[in-house]
Amino acid sequence: MTSQSPFFNAHSISIGTCANPACRAIHVHLLDQDDHSHAQFTIGCEHIEDVITDLRTVRDRIVMGGEKKGLDN
Ligand SMILES: [Zn+2]
Repeated sequence: MTSQSPFFNAHSISIGTCANPACRAIHVHLLDQDDHSHAQFTIGCEHIEDVITDLRTVRDRIVMGGEKKGLDN
């Protein structure tokens, strides 16, 4: 870790499913530089469009806002 952040900073993510046939969630793993999963979160299929919309909203705020990205910084 080179930063002082108290959070684990994932190097990449892995998006997939789990072994449970009854599970209808998308599983997203947070990976370190060696592709080991440190944490995961799940998103129900019925929520994925909302998540994508939120991602696009933040993306647009960053792209349009320059150094003033908005409320989070
Ligand atoms: Zn699952």
